[in-house]
Amino acid sequence: MFIGHFAVGFASKRLAPRTSLAALVAAAAFVDILWPIFVLLGIEVVRIDPGNTAMTPMDFVSYPWTHSLLMALAWGAAFGLAWRAATGDGRGAWVLAALVPSHWVLDFASHRPDLPLVPGAGPRLGLGLWNSIPATLAVEGALFVAGLAVYLATTRAANRKGTIGLWAFVAFLLAGYLGNLAQVPPSATAVAVAGLLASAISLPWIWWFDRNRELRPSPAASTASAAAPGAPPPRRG
Ligand SMILES: [Zn+2]
Repeated sequence: MFIGHFAVGFASKRLAPRTSLAALVAAAAFVDILWPIFVLLGIEVVRIDPGNTAMTPMDFVSYPWTHSLLMALAWGAAFGLAWRAATGDGRGAWVLAALVPSHWVLDFASHRPDLPLVPGAGPRLGLGLWNSIPATLAVEGALFVAGLAVYLATTRAANRKGTIGLWAFVAFLLAGYLGNLAQVPPSATAVAVAGLLASAISLPWIWWFDRNRELRPSPAASTASAAAPGAPPPRRG
């Protein structure tokens, strides 16, 4: 999956409102951020195979260190612990640790049966949503709209950078997503380099617009402040 991972990152802002959206998206996409490095180092293998699925010409020959369920859980634990040590943000650490393996679940829905459970052994799984472009666009599109809606309900622009930066990024992301459909990359190396570049552009961009947005007052807090003095505070459902 591709924009589905962004959707999960955007939506998780509600669970960890004080954590930068860049960290949340980086966690949801973390194993895809590592993957190009592993491919360039020759530790994992991808082959260009037009028509492998309708959505992508990539044949994921071997990627147990980034895309097995066990390693996704391990990377998640490492990400959460590192975040906690670096920032002291305990709540964010838990959310980030859960976001990393969320990637495997979404990829399980979209990939052909090529995802291992553990490195080096066992069955390879995948439900193959990517065999259908319309089904993929419907599912990923709906996920993305929902994730973005949660983010917009959780934050509001603090200034124009917070509005323009967000929407320009959404346009950039969707253009890249749809543009990829029409292309067969020349080589696995080209795929890996493009992946690294995409992360290097996206994450600072996300960090920047998220910084220029602020949390909306929670509905409970605004109801409480609007209530008559002396009235009991509304119970949070
Ligand atoms: Zn992936």
